[in-house]
Amino acid sequence: MGYWERDVAYLRGVGPKRATLLREALEVHTFKDLAMLFPRKYVDRSQVTKIKDVTYLNEGQFVTLVGKLGKFDAPPGGKVTRLVSTLRDETGWAELTWFQGARYVASKFKEGEEVVIFGRVGFFQQKLQFTHPEIESLRDGEDTLDALKIVPFYSSTEALKKQGLDARGLRRLTHALIAGADEPFPEILTPEILTEYRLPNRPFALANIHFPQDFPQLEQAKRRFKFEEFFFFELIMARRKTFLQPQRGARPFTRVGELFNEFYANHLPFTLTGAQKRVVKEIRHDLAKPIQMNRLVQGDVGSGKTMVAVLAMLLALDNGYQALLMAPTEILAEQHFHNIYRYLSPLNVSIELVVGAQRKKLRNSIIYNLVTGTSKIAVGTHALLEESIQFQNLGLTIIDEQHKFGVLQRARLWSKAPVYPHNLAMTATPIPRTLGLTLYGDVDLSIIDELPPGRKPVKTVVKSQANRLEVNGFVAKQLALGRQIYIVYPLVEESAKLDLAAVTEGYESTCRAFPNARVGIVHGKMKPDAKEFEMQRFKKGETHILVSTTVIEVGVDVPNASVMVIENAERFGLSQLHQLRGRVGRGAEQSFTILVASHKLSKEARRRLDAMTMTNDGFKISEIDLEIRGPGDFMGTRQSGLPEFRIANIATDGAILEQAKTAAFDLARRDALLQAPECAALKAFFEAYVAQHNLQDLIA
Ligand code: ADP
Ligand code: MG
Repeated sequence: MGYWERDVAYLRGVGPKRATLLREALEVHTFKDLAMLFPRKYVDRSQVTKIKDVTYLNEGQFVTLVGKLGKFDAPPGGKVTRLVSTLRDETGWAELTWFQGARYVASKFKEGEEVVIFGRVGFFQQKLQFTHPEIESLRDGEDTLDALKIVPFYSSTEALKKQGLDARGLRRLTHALIAGADEPFPEILTPEILTEYRLPNRPFALANIHFPQDFPQLEQAKRRFKFEEFFFFELIMARRKTFLQPQRGARPFTRVGELFNEFYANHLPFTLTGAQKRVVKEIRHDLAKPIQMNRLVQGDVGSGKTMVAVLAMLLALDNGYQALLMAPTEILAEQHFHNIYRYLSPLNVSIELVVGAQRKKLRNSIIYNLVTGTSKIAVGTHALLEESIQFQNLGLTIIDEQHKFGVLQRARLWSKAPVYPHNLAMTATPIPRTLGLTLYGDVDLSIIDELPPGRKPVKTVVKSQANRLEVNGFVAKQLALGRQIYIVYPLVEESAKLDLAAVTEGYESTCRAFPNARVGIVHGKMKPDAKEFEMQRFKKGETHILVSTTVIEVGVDVPNASVMVIENAERFGLSQLHQLRGRVGRGAEQSFTILVASHKLSKEARRRLDAMTMTNDGFKISEIDLEIRGPGDFMGTRQSGLPEFRIANIATDGAILEQAKTAAFDLARRDALLQAPECAALKAFFEAYVAQHNLQDLIA
């Protein structure tokens, strides 16, 4: 067995007990796994700070100090739970305190010993103090590790520390691992890729990510491993895109026919924006090919995605196929249905609305019309997925707010057609470019980056609860101008009852505050009929204020509504706030979003609200959101099924990601199955990677 495949238990200094711990706590099974356990941070030992130079200005920062340990002061008795000592250099002294691992420190170090400590600067009763500093002896002359200028620090756990596997212990193991290797750390990228992207080879990168000679070499090593991590992920996307998708034969829509031309020439209710035209062209281009279209249209709220969908549907109809549009909520599905019905009424095209709980007789006629091809278009919710809904000749599926549906649901839709239908997804949730590259690496992206003309950007302000009267005064003025108002309350599952109470109370206080206005209420606990009734009343202008929970979040279109008041705005996520703001600013008048927040805000909530007042641009908002939440959380809400990246960070390593993506797609275009001899190691690694992360489905 090769060196790097050996069981970690056989590494000098490990043994069975530590091996179990390494396996359980760190998922380290083999030598190779240990090699890939990278340091969490590095300390430049040449940057030693003198104690007198550490001041209040440094509070919270990390510093490295060198000095002699003072007397250990531990509570008497056998049980050491807290340990206090001092560190003295020629300029002053600092107090050191340990709670966890106190026994270990007490047994390992002696008074008068010369040590290096590394820790976070704190002050307690005006004394310079370090709690849980990392500590290392300088006395241990034969230890080559002590000669290191840049010292790696590894994450450890309490259990590991008890077995001597603290940062220092792990450092020793890693050092022994690399020093004892009787074969180089195996390369997995091809020489071509290494040269083209100027990446250091793997043995160099391994040595330097653990024990860097200097910081530039460390950066190179990090870049190499980040690239590697992105590369293998993008290779999955590349394989889907260049190999699997082209095998998905679909019917080409070769004709731009009567319906499309008639509608385009005579019935467009407005002039398309440049962006809409461009996206329609991209879609037409895809649809003309005999392989399945897989395109995502990203456009901020109000950018006019519905019309793009309508034009794509007409292309399907012109070629003798049916089309369906699926939306995540009933309100949205109905709105789409009404709009499309209105747009297409001059064309004499028959359309069906498919939602849950339809009367049997109605549903039966819908089923009949779709399966016989009497109706050409179906608009609906996930009710469209029901077994009974079948088509005569489905050629195009359009999914609105695709991220609300899972991959399986999509597959179920596709099974309703004899050959793969073309697929168009639409989303008003802009995602940062780098994340888009990753998440949708196998999808073609169209971006509507232009709003219809005449829109005035929404003005956004933050008001504290204490300014209630001012907010109400403003709302009253807008009501007097004939505008309509949304007032939105948060809703989270865990406190659904409380939130329901809040929205009901909000409704009552709104009625009291605006006695001359008609007020409606919509929340998730209402029956669909009742919800729809209230929505329609608001749309028709019969109610002036709509108090609701976030059920109105996506897509609802009431151009006369010009004020969005968001209560407890600090409880909403950034993308949700942006979505809600998109409900206003749809008409010609100046619109406003008022974020009513509690006066005590967390730092993150403050950043979210600031971002809202700073920009109306959904892409900028999404980038800030990614920064605040970090990639894990940001993606958590989607059924992304992505593996977590260990060293690479999609929020900050965008440039490396793009290079890795290019490299992966280039390779896949040349050799999708990785059959070239120089790809042997790459292929083996890729297969292991796919198996380890359970991604077989994605490439089969
Ligand atoms: P979204 O992208 O959020 O789904 P919609 O398709 O609902 O946006 O369009 C928002 C509003 O803008 C609708 O009232 C629609 O009629 C209008 N609209 C769309 N495109 C244009 C355009 N090119 N010019 C003028 N108004 C448009
Ligand atoms: Mg929409």
